[in-house]
Amino acid sequence: MPKYIFNGDSVFHNGSWETIRSLMSVLSPEEFNELAGEKAVDFFLETHRFCGICGSRTEPAPDREIKYALRCSSAGCAGHSRFMYPSYSIASITLVTRKKGKELLLAHNTAWPSDRVSLLAGFMQPGETLENCVRREIKEECGLDLLSVQYINSQPWPFPSNIMTGFYAEAADGEARPDGTELDRIIWVTRDELRKIQDGTSETGLVMPRKGSLARRLAEMWLTGKV
Ligand SMILES: [Zn+2]
Repeated sequence: MPKYIFNGDSVFHNGSWETIRSLMSVLSPEEFNELAGEKAVDFFLETHRFCGICGSRTEPAPDREIKYALRCSSAGCAGHSRFMYPSYSIASITLVTRKKGKELLLAHNTAWPSDRVSLLAGFMQPGETLENCVRREIKEECGLDLLSVQYINSQPWPFPSNIMTGFYAEAADGEARPDGTELDRIIWVTRDELRKIQDGTSETGLVMPRKGSLARRLAEMWLTGKV
């Protein structure tokens, strides 16, 4: 029995409708992962009501370990025996550092409020490894090559059905420049400066993503020397 009811980016929780995003900093990581899983299934069922091969209605697939698998209801269609499962878009988000890990790259995306900054992120393309995705995204968005890329952590990301994978990278020498399309501002910060940004005491007036996000979790790990 699902625990949450969704309506777009809203979720019914404790007697009222709230945005999924607002619950990120309220729920525990385990609870938020559970919510993300239910959102992925909800989105899957909503967007797979018909067979992509013949257009017939889909139906629950029988005798499958994953109870929400679907199949085409038309017995003559190849989709009748080729089951569908919830799928995820994969994104990477990266702590890009320089000076032996002493400075961290933060960026402002053109779609965000003017004071918001975060780590660099992007979606994986077909045929890429996650490491290649990280290297391509960083190169495209700010022109930097990376000396090393190391996997750190991940987070189911219910907007609507993604998984965020977190990395630590060391940048090669060179000037970081925003691509001007996706990013319009980038800054290097020390741990002291990032701490002030997260405390709201930075003279820059910048703010980081909300608590509970993988971006914030990775930033905390960098601040406390865990990466
Ligand atoms: Zn079909």
